[in-house]
Amino acid sequence: MSRSRALPLAVALVIVMAGLFLASSLVKRLIGTTEASARVTQLTQASRRSDSMSPRYSESGYDITPLQRDRVATLAAKLDPEAYRITQKSGTEPAFCGNLLDNHKDGVYVCVVCGLPLFSSQNKFNSGTGWPSFYQPFDPQHIVRKVDTSLFMVRTEELCARCGSHLGHVFEDGPPPTGERHCLNSVALKFYEKSAALPPESQPVNAGGGSGKTELRSATGEVAYFAGGCFWGVQHYFKLGPGVLDAASGYMQGHVDHPTYRQVCTDTTGHAETVKVVFDPKRITYRRLLEAFFVMHDPTQLNRQGPDFGDQYRSGIWYVSDEQRREAEAYI
Ligand SMILES: [Zn+2]
Repeated sequence: MSRSRALPLAVALVIVMAGLFLASSLVKRLIGTTEASARVTQLTQASRRSDSMSPRYSESGYDITPLQRDRVATLAAKLDPEAYRITQKSGTEPAFCGNLLDNHKDGVYVCVVCGLPLFSSQNKFNSGTGWPSFYQPFDPQHIVRKVDTSLFMVRTEELCARCGSHLGHVFEDGPPPTGERHCLNSVALKFYEKSAALPPESQPVNAGGGSGKTELRSATGEVAYFAGGCFWGVQHYFKLGPGVLDAASGYMQGHVDHPTYRQVCTDTTGHAETVKVVFDPKRITYRRLLEAFFVMHDPTQLNRQGPDFGDQYRSGIWYVSDEQRREAEAYI
């Protein structure tokens, strides 16, 4: 009885160890065969359709890179039916019914879907229309304006710049100094009082170390490259690291210059979705980045990561110095 149990256990251990060895070999091979200095120039920015998918930051220091459609769908799936109807189907809530109409507290109004700050209590006014109204947005770059010809009218629709959710409309009959009236649906917004802690998605990039804008422009730290599946997730996690000055998505290896995202998705260009991490070695070590990298993804999943299949999702570490190479090999 005990012997028949021991045998499957031994087999399972061999399989697990073989899997770990294969993954370790894969990463080592990537490190060992890649000349970083030559490859660094191949980190080309991704593009979605013909648009650039390189990270975008607003003047106020927030990440306004448009989210991919499946990411928006995942976030929107958490909304209640009314918020979903209004933000994803361009609906309008009944006048005088929204819960933020009479909110007079100090704070910030963020997108209910993606958390991007959209309006400030400092710019709120009573328009008498029955919808929360503001005379200017938190940052003009956080809002996208679009002509809306529905309901036999020509209006200007307002959408979240990051997730594309419908927010409301803007009219030119507002108070000074802008003369604008941003007319919002309460359910498209989430309010955080001034003293409340904001979630990471509602904070400027590198919030822990000053304004994102300043740090991005003075990002002169050390560079490291990691591939661990879909680059948006990897980029997101690295950005949370204290001492990480910037994290940007792009591609490594491959044999096509400046590939589009669609080209890479055909699995024929040979690229790996990769994140360039710029960090301050006095605040976070390369070793700490390695530790985080092996927590945020599973290198034993060959040429895939979770639901994403294809060799563009393979694991990889690209060193930029002999010291990084030694540390990475020692850690693996
Ligand atoms: Zn949004």
